[in-house]
Amino acid sequence: MSAKKATTKGKTAPKKTSAKKPAAKKSTTKASSKRPAARATKAAPAPESAAAKLARSLHLPTEAFIGGRPVPSASGKTFATLNPATGEEIAQIAACGAEDVDRAVAAARTAFHGPWSRMSPAERKRLMLRFATLIESHATELATVETIEGGKPIEDTGNIDLVETIDVIRFHAEAVDKVNDQLTPSDPGVVSMVVREPIGVVGCVLPWNFPLLMAAWKLGPILATGNTCVLKPAEQTSITTLRLAELAVEAGIPDGVINVVTGFGPDVGEPLGRHPDVDALAFTGSTETGRRFLHYSAESNLKRVLLECGGKNPFVVMHDADDLDAIAEHAATSIYWNGGQNCSSNSRLIVHNAIKDDLLPLVLEKSREWVVGDPLDPNTKIGAMIEPAHLDKVLDNINSGHVEGADCVLGGHQTRLESGGWFVEPTVFDNVTPGMRLAQEEIFGPVLSVIGFDQPEEGIRIANDTPYGLAASVFTSDLRTAHIAARAIRAGTISVNTYAEGDVATPFGGFGLSGFAGRDKSLHAHDQYTELKTIWIDLG
Ligand code: NAD
Repeated sequence: MSAKKATTKGKTAPKKTSAKKPAAKKSTTKASSKRPAARATKAAPAPESAAAKLARSLHLPTEAFIGGRPVPSASGKTFATLNPATGEEIAQIAACGAEDVDRAVAAARTAFHGPWSRMSPAERKRLMLRFATLIESHATELATVETIEGGKPIEDTGNIDLVETIDVIRFHAEAVDKVNDQLTPSDPGVVSMVVREPIGVVGCVLPWNFPLLMAAWKLGPILATGNTCVLKPAEQTSITTLRLAELAVEAGIPDGVINVVTGFGPDVGEPLGRHPDVDALAFTGSTETGRRFLHYSAESNLKRVLLECGGKNPFVVMHDADDLDAIAEHAATSIYWNGGQNCSSNSRLIVHNAIKDDLLPLVLEKSREWVVGDPLDPNTKIGAMIEPAHLDKVLDNINSGHVEGADCVLGGHQTRLESGGWFVEPTVFDNVTPGMRLAQEEIFGPVLSVIGFDQPEEGIRIANDTPYGLAASVFTSDLRTAHIAARAIRAGTISVNTYAEGDVATPFGGFGLSGFAGRDKSLHAHDQYTELKTIWIDLG
C-alpha cells in the first residue's frame, strides 16, 4: 500500500445530503414475535408503498429453519428486516443466538451421520437437480423477494442472480458422480488409494449483496461432496435463504442437511465460528469480519476456515487499448452493477495519460445511463444501498475525495430522498492519486476513482498498490502486454479486454486481504469441503 500522505487543494467538503435519518436495521431487535412498535417519530402511518403491498402477497418465511422445519428463536426475540428502497419494515425475523446455533449444528450432525453422506452419488445428484428445478420454478418469487429485501434491481435479480444460482446448483449436482478418487502407483503387493471424504458439518456465514448466489456458491460444493450445513444469512437479507432451505426439503434433501439460523454476527456468526462440532467455516463478507473467524477457529477446534473477502479492484487501460467506447461501457458496468455493492467491482480506473482525456468523457456518458430508481421498476439500473449505516459509509468516502483534493466530475450525492430509501448517484472522481482513501478503501458503492499513469509498469504497480487482490481487468491490443500484466497483477481473476468473473467452471477467490484458503465455484471448490484420506492395503 502506498504511504503517500493525503493532500488538500483547499476545497471545502460538500454538505452532507442525508436528510432524514431512517431507523437503522440493527437497532430493532425486540423480545416479541408481535409486530414492532411504529416508529416513534411518525404521527400518522405513511401510505403503504407498492413494494410493501407486493411483499404482503408473497410467502415470506421468518423463522429459523432447523432439522427440516421452521422454528422460532429459543429466546423468542425477533428483529425487523427493512426494504432499502423505502425504509419500510418487511417482516420480523427470528433473532437467534448460541442456543439456536447448538440446535442447528446438532441437526446437521445427525443428518450427516444419517443418509446424506452415505447416499449413492446418483441419488444425491438426483435430489440436487430436483432442488435446482424447484428453485427455477420459484424464480420469479425469489427474485422479487431478493429485490424487496436487498434493494437490488429486479432486472438483475431475475436475469442474473437467479439464473446463476440455478446454474451453480446444477453444475455441482452434475459433478457428483463424475469425480473419481485415485489409485496411486505402488508395489504389486499393495493397493494404495487416495480418497476424498466429506469434511462433516460446514458453517456458512454469508453477506447481503448477493444473498441467494453466495448461498449457492457454498451449497453447491458442500452438498455435492456429502456434507451438511448451517447457513447464517446476513441479517439484512434472511428471507430468500430461508426459502431456499424450504425448497431443499421439498426437493427431498433430507431434514437437517441444510439449516438456516438467522440473526446478527456476534449472536449467530460468532457461536458458529467457535462451535466445537463444526468442521469447516466458509465465510463471505468483509475482510474485517473474516479475520475474526481465524481467531474463532484458533480458539476453538481448529476448524478449517475459508474466507472470501473484500476487494479494491483495478481496471487498467493501456495506451494501445482498442475501442474506447466499449471500454467505457465495461468500466461503467463494472462499477455500477449492483450499485457498486459487489466485491469484484473495478472501483479504480487506472488509465494511461495518453488516452485519459479521450476515455473519461465516454465513461461519464455511459455513467449517466445508469438510472438510479425503484428496484422494482425494470428500467432501474442502480437500486438502493443496503442500510443507512452503509449509505453513510459511502457518503463519507465521497467526502474524503473532496477533502483529499480529487475532482468530483459526476454525481457525489445521496438521491431519491423522497422514497424513504438509501440511494446514491453514480459518482466519478478524477485526478485520484494511489495513496488517497478513495484509491485504497473498499467503498462498496457506485463510486469510481480515476488514476492516470505514464508507463505500463507504473499502471501495474498502481494496480497492485492495495492490500487486496480479488479481481482485475486489463485492456490492451498487445498480446505481450496483456500476458505480462495478467501474470504481474496479484488477483484471483484477471480479465483481459473485458470485465468478467469467468463462469461457474472457473474458481473465484482472492489474494491478500481478499481471501484465505478458499475458492468458490468450479470443481476446485470440492476440495475445500473434503478431507483427503490415504488407504494403504497390504495384500500379503
Ligand atoms: P460483513 O463482514 O459485515 O458481514 C458478513 C457476515 O458476517 C454477515 O452474515 C454478518 O452478520 C456476519 N458477521 C458480522 N460480524 C460478525 C462477527 N463479529 N462474528 C461473526 N460473524 C459476523 O460483510 P457484508 O457487509 O455483509 O458484505 C460485504 C462484504 O462482503 C464486502 O467486503 C464484499 O467485498 C464482501 N464480499 C466478498 C465476496 C467474495 O467472493 N470475495 C463476495 C461478496 C461479498
